Amino acid sequence: MARILTEFYCATTGGGCGGYFKVFLRTNMFGNYTIQCPNPKCEHHHFRYVKEGVVTDDRHNVRGGQAEIIVGLKSTFNDTPMHDDPDYRRSKLAVLQADFLMMRNNNNN
Ligand SMILES: [Zn+2]
Repeated sequence: MARILTEFYCATTGGGCGGYFKVFLRTNMFGNYTIQCPNPKCEHHHFRYVKEGVVTDDRHNVRGGQAEIIVGLKSTFNDTPMHDDPDYRRSKLAVLQADFLMMRNNNNN
């Protein structure tokens, strides 16, 4: 059972604050989960159906059972999504460069 760090958007269209945060989900999670925004001024509840630890676009449904509340990680709350974060971009670039070097080395063998 793996732990999955999932980014979540607190959509303003759903009454949220427009911020981004992360939650830890696990691959054995199925059913209704209420994901709470960690922004203390917001604490918006997102009623989502989770399948194998992945948040789907579906809302709570009758087959999903009672919902457990998962509170987002406060330290991850941000105005911008993870892929816009300079640290994330740098680490992505490092991975790409490592892959490129490995491919180049393999081709030389
Ligand atoms: Zn929010």
